[in-house]
Amino acid sequence: MHLARFPRVHLAHLPTPLERLDRLTEALGGPEIWIKRDDCTGMSTGGNKTRKLEFLMAEAIAGGADMVMTQGATQSNHARQTAAFAAKLGMGCHILLEDRTGYQNPDYTENGNVLLDHLHGATTELHPGGTDMVAAMEAAAEAERATGRKVYVIPGGGSNPTGALGYVNCALELLAQANERGLVIDRLVHATGSSGTQAGLVAGMCALNAGIPVLGIGTRAPQERQEQMVYDLACRTADKLGCPGVVRREDVVADTSYVGAGYGLPREDTLEAIRMFAELEGVLLDPVYSGKGAAGLIDGCRSGRFKAGERVVFLHTGGAVGLFAYKGALARG
Ligand SMILES: *Cc1c(COP(=O)(O)O)cnc(C)c1O
Repeated sequence: MHLARFPRVHLAHLPTPLERLDRLTEALGGPEIWIKRDDCTGMSTGGNKTRKLEFLMAEAIAGGADMVMTQGATQSNHARQTAAFAAKLGMGCHILLEDRTGYQNPDYTENGNVLLDHLHGATTELHPGGTDMVAAMEAAAEAERATGRKVYVIPGGGSNPTGALGYVNCALELLAQANERGLVIDRLVHATGSSGTQAGLVAGMCALNAGIPVLGIGTRAPQERQEQMVYDLACRTADKLGCPGVVRREDVVADTSYVGAGYGLPREDTLEAIRMFAELEGVLLDPVYSGKGAAGLIDGCRSGRFKAGERVVFLHTGGAVGLFAYKGALARG
């Protein structure tokens, strides 16, 4: 595989740091915990969508688009980062937001990511939870096309084989860093949602024959569905890379036991993970994704699922902008 063959806009701050979390490692007393700082990728503070958008936006430009459209939850990080890319590249941006939590407070509906969507010049429209967002986006795109705009539609989370190339790139980068410093990585853990991150990582690790298991911690769908989504996309990504058949079904593992009541609804262990990372390491997680991913990491250390002496890398996918939408859940009395 040769990623330079795919169109890409080079806007991410790469490589992201790979650092040891000494105080968290000590507090948990199990494996050695490392962090891959994909919360520091740049473009409106950064996060995992930046790597995907490097490839997606290049495809939009190559196709002659003058506008991009995407969809996500009200506090979508993907929406914010897409708005930032569109601003930087001088394109229009329209975003469809779905109310998946039912939260009515103005912090949730206007602050955090929503504030930044608008600051980057994007327009937004809000839909009730349960809307067929794919159909709604196609209709909105058709309406724009009827007025002469050239619209490039980006799926929710930027999760298609083009976007997943960003996480093939991350697999390459992480392996190079580990090889350089003689660090043997025993496992990679991260939050999984629309599946592009895990699919790209798995396709990349399999194509490289790295032998590093990837564990996705679910944030929305039940396990069987999550794993099937990731597997399908990982296979399509491997095809795109010219490495068909490298991903086996057993290479895709998701643990969805930290989702709680639903997408965007933090549990007690989500909040504990956010506090531990903030107080022990000065690192900001978020209540929707990385907090749940880290809850899975912490529980895996405590339960002995990850053994003492193992080196576990937590891929920090970003999302801290969302903290400002969850003041009620996080504020201390
Ligand atoms: C989108 C997102 C994820 C999930 O990544 P997918 O590629 O959608 O699975 C994880 N963390 C954060 C902060 C995100 O914004």
